[in-house]
Amino acid sequence: MSMNDGKFELPYDSPVVPAMLEEDSEISFRCYPGIACFNACCKQSDITLAPYDIIRLKKRLGLDSSEFLKTHTLPYEMDQHGMPGVKLRNVNDESPVCQFMTDAGCSVYEDRPTACRYYPLGLLSMKKKDEKSDEVHYALVEEDHCKGHCEDHKLTVGEYRREQGVVEYDDLNRDWHRIILKKRSAGPAIGTPPEMSFQLFFMASYDLDRFRRFVLSDSFRKTYDLDAAFYDSVADDDIELLKFGYRLMMQVFFGEMSVPMVDKAVEKRLAERGEVIAMRHEAEKKAWQEKQERLKRDASVEDGETVVNVCGEGGCGSND
Ligand code: SF4
Ligand code: SF4
Repeated sequence: MSMNDGKFELPYDSPVVPAMLEEDSEISFRCYPGIACFNACCKQSDITLAPYDIIRLKKRLGLDSSEFLKTHTLPYEMDQHGMPGVKLRNVNDESPVCQFMTDAGCSVYEDRPTACRYYPLGLLSMKKKDEKSDEVHYALVEEDHCKGHCEDHKLTVGEYRREQGVVEYDDLNRDWHRIILKKRSAGPAIGTPPEMSFQLFFMASYDLDRFRRFVLSDSFRKTYDLDAAFYDSVADDDIELLKFGYRLMMQVFFGEMSVPMVDKAVEKRLAERGEVIAMRHEAEKKAWQEKQERLKRDASVEDGETVVNVCGEGGCGSND
C-alpha cells in the first residue's frame, strides 16, 4: 500500500482520484485473513508514523524511543520547510515490504500504526485561513491490488474508524496535527530558530524518552514553574508526557502560554552568568597582580635599588 497517514497529503500518486467522504458517508469494504489479496498492501508499504503510533510500537517491542527510532524507522522531511518526520523501515532499504509483515499477517497487529488502521481511507485534516478550528474529511483510495472494495460489507466511515480502533489514535494525535498545520501556515521561523524548533518538535513528537530526560532535568525545572505532582505524572506516563509536549510546543512555537514559567528565570540565568564572569575577572586580576610582584622582585635583583614604578589597580607608586 502506498500510503502515508493521510493527514496532510492525499496519495496523489494513486491511479484513482480519491473520493472525499464525511464521518457518515457509506463505504463498502472488508479486509480479513484469507482474502485473495491478504498482505498485498503490506508488501508495498510506506508508513509515516505519528507520536501515538511510536508509543504503542516501542512499548510492544520493549524498546525506549531512541532505540525504536534507530532500529525501526527512517527520517524524512514532511515538507519543503524541512519539518522532520519518521517512517517505518521496510525489511531493507531496497524492499517495499514492511518489516512487520509475516505470512500470518501483521506481527504487531494490535499496535499497528494509524496509517495501517485507516487504509484504504485517508484522514484529511485542513485548516482554513482565518478559521480557528480545523476541518476533517476522509478520502477513499481504491488501488487495484486491494480486493476489499469488492466485498459486500457496507458501513459508514465512522463505523470503520471504530472497527479499526483508530479513534483513540486520532484523539492522541489530534493536537500534533494541529501543531503541524499551524507551523506550516506560520512558517518555520516563528518563535524560535528553525533548527531549534525542529529539534524540540522531533524530541517531543517521536523521541519521548529523551524528551522525558529533558523535562526532568535541572535546567528545565529552573525555567518552568511546575510542581512535584506534575513531575511525578510525566516520570513514567507516556501519554501525560505526550500531552505536555503538545502544550510546550504550542507555547514555544506560537506563544500560547499554558506552562507557567519561573519568575525572572531568564534574569536568574543572567545573574548566574554574571557571577561566573565576576569570578573569572577576580582570577585574572589575581594573576595579573602576581605577575607584577614577580616583575618587581626580578627588577630588584637585576638593578639593586633602582626605582621601579608599578602601575597597578591602586594607582601609581614607587618603592622609595
Ligand atoms: S505495520 Fe503491520 S499492517 Fe502496517 S504495513 Fe506493516 S505489516 Fe502491514
Ligand atoms: S483487502 Fe486491501 S487492506 Fe486488506 S489485505 Fe487486501 S490489500 Fe490489504
